[in-house]
Amino acid sequence: MKSQEPDPNYFSSSSSSLVSSTKWWSKETIAIVTGANKGIGFALVKRLAELGLTVILTARDVERGQRAVESLSEKGLPVNFFQLDVSDPSSIEAFVSWFKSNFAALDILVNNAGVSFNDIYKNTVEHAETVIRTNFYGAKLLTESLLPLFRRSPSKSRILNISSRLGTLSKVRNPNIKSILEDEELSEEQIERFVGLFLQSVKDGTWKSQGWPEIWTDYAVSKLALNAYTMVLAKRYEGEGISVNSYCPGFTQTSMTQGQGSHTADEAAGVGARLLLLHPQQLPTAKFYIGLDPFVKSNL
Ligand code: NDP
Repeated sequence: MKSQEPDPNYFSSSSSSLVSSTKWWSKETIAIVTGANKGIGFALVKRLAELGLTVILTARDVERGQRAVESLSEKGLPVNFFQLDVSDPSSIEAFVSWFKSNFAALDILVNNAGVSFNDIYKNTVEHAETVIRTNFYGAKLLTESLLPLFRRSPSKSRILNISSRLGTLSKVRNPNIKSILEDEELSEEQIERFVGLFLQSVKDGTWKSQGWPEIWTDYAVSKLALNAYTMVLAKRYEGEGISVNSYCPGFTQTSMTQGQGSHTADEAAGVGARLLLLHPQQLPTAKFYIGLDPFVKSNL
């Protein structure tokens, strides 16, 4: 089998209700992955390219991005490339403008780019602003800028936010802070208020005593905000041809974990790709998938 051809065994996993007999995508299906020069993002680009989609690999650093593209090209997997720093609004603007002039429509967006400045067993908030700007605001601004370009039909467009189980509400110990995100009518303004309160508590030096998540605090807050945004967006586009979900790949061996983890980036991306490519009739919205068994999923 040539590497660009869809893998016929792709949907043959018997244990899963992800099983589908209909391949709905083609070379005309366009997917964007952020932060894709390495780690899970790179593995996702590779998998989607293997399955025959047209993929746009983006990276904040041109050289690292181009090296990643070359390594795929050597495997017979040509992908497109454009520089994209999600924490920089002008970079997002340039990317969206390039995308508009080169592609008719968008089918899939994977908000994968992310940072953490913590070692595994450390918890510093020294870089809290960068973490929030990249992991939450970056994904949000890019999504908002691309929303008008989604094809929406007939296959349903999809957004997958690569998140973390550290960003679940159970990690927030302060009931007043938690209640902001528990509101049934949750809005983007409330999410931004939540994030603003955190950044203020970092500035005041009070974050430790205020009941924020205890592990990788700034990262957890960024993913809490991303998960909440997933829900708000999913609700906004319910019945409008865009499905929005989050996926925590579990403890994965990448630079972010200094190579530690229970599985490889390829394994995490394999599951991510299956979730992304669910048949339109099986595709949920507003779900948070956790770990390598995509059926262990929960509403946020
Ligand atoms: P890596 O550190 O290997 O990859 C992160 C990627 O994001 C890199 O390509 C990095 O680029 C890129 N990136 C960072 N900042 C920006 C930015 N401002 N603009 C564009 N790209 C940026 O980590 P992972 O592959 O593990 O992480 C991928 C996603 O998975 C993240 O969202 C992470 O939070 C999430 N995740 C990871 C887990 C794990 O155990 N590994 C667990 C749960 C979630 P560069 O090379 O230039 O730094």
